[in-house]
Amino acid sequence: MSNLLVTGGAGFIGANFVHYWMKTYPQDKVVVLDALTYAGNKSNLDPVANKQNFVFHHGNICDTPLVETLLKEHRIHTLVHFAAESHVDRSITGPDAFIETNIIGTHSLLKAAKKIWLDEGLNRENHRFHHVSTDEVYGTLGPNDPAFSERTPYAPNSPYSASKAASDHLVRAYHHTYGLNVTTSNCSNNYGPYHFPEKLIPLVITNILQDKPLPIYGDGQQIRDWLYVEDHARGIDLVMKKGRLGECYNIGGINEWANIDIVKLICELMNQAFAEDPSLAEKYPQAKKAKQGGAQELITFVTDRAGHDRRYAIDPTKSNQELGYIPVESFESGIRKTLQWYLNNNSWWSAVMDGSYQQWISSQYADA
Ligand code: NAD
Repeated sequence: MSNLLVTGGAGFIGANFVHYWMKTYPQDKVVVLDALTYAGNKSNLDPVANKQNFVFHHGNICDTPLVETLLKEHRIHTLVHFAAESHVDRSITGPDAFIETNIIGTHSLLKAAKKIWLDEGLNRENHRFHHVSTDEVYGTLGPNDPAFSERTPYAPNSPYSASKAASDHLVRAYHHTYGLNVTTSNCSNNYGPYHFPEKLIPLVITNILQDKPLPIYGDGQQIRDWLYVEDHARGIDLVMKKGRLGECYNIGGINEWANIDIVKLICELMNQAFAEDPSLAEKYPQAKKAKQGGAQELITFVTDRAGHDRRYAIDPTKSNQELGYIPVESFESGIRKTLQWYLNNNSWWSAVMDGSYQQWISSQYADA
């Protein structure tokens, strides 16, 4: 039995990780620490909220004394760190919050972990700090460049990826300098349930359902590697179980797609869903184009993001050979499950798209 502290557990990946963990290890205690920013949503944790071995704590990772108290009070062995400002576009218009949470916040957690686990000796032998990071720290690839391996030099291009790169270095330094038991995973783009609708896949799904334009940056040929979120949770689990201390592991889907092709695929699947299930037209009366089989007509090209990375791709050799990691969800079934989840959960996505979100998104795609 283990006691976990999960930071950012009310966000997209954090919440999916909590569900995965509590299903897989029902005897473990899971404590979530989350500041409930615009991206955090307590209802993402509703399925586990009433379990005796689950605790939600509303608070900020920058509050070091609070983190120390949680580590002690719940006798935490394992800290899994998801909390972050995570949206590249927001980091371009407002980088300060990214520096605060992603760098200072990560350092706050490391200081608290060092104090409680190493200086005070609680769980000194079996503690673990797992840091969740991104493939964006490696920068951008040309069409024929080899995929990112763990030896690819860091070259972050956005304030978001630069702040994540800084946090990765701090985590590494706390291992080498103080002997903190750390591991880091650098993952590609995730998709799945509870994904905040400012990100590409949920944005496209929810915009089709509202008959709104589907904004595509530049020529839409930016390539990303996509991984179903539960496969990310499995990957983190394996890194924590089998990964070597102080090491980083890349986790990816071996699944590269150009943005425009993903958007066209979602349009096709949505047209199909409306054709097969007439009740959808009643549930989503606004979705006129999808009802007529023409969701793709909503595609609208907009000015490219400043400094937009062209291609990300993950070389999975290390996580495959050392951990035996392979993603299990095919893109075909993962994207269908995701679409179905949004079709079934319109109350969730309507609620998270409040006034401030609407204001932000319309300023973002003014030319859509
Ligand atoms: P998200 O934006 O959906 O969720 C972030 C969560 O962190 C929210 O619940 C938010 O309330 C919380 N949070 C933010 N600042 C906080 C603070 N100061 N204190 C406490 N909680 C705070 O993000 P996500 O997409 O779930 O990403 C989770 C992690 O995974 C991030 O570290 C991100 O860099 C990394 N990652 C994401 C992806 C992806 O595709 N989304 C890919 C690779 C890595």
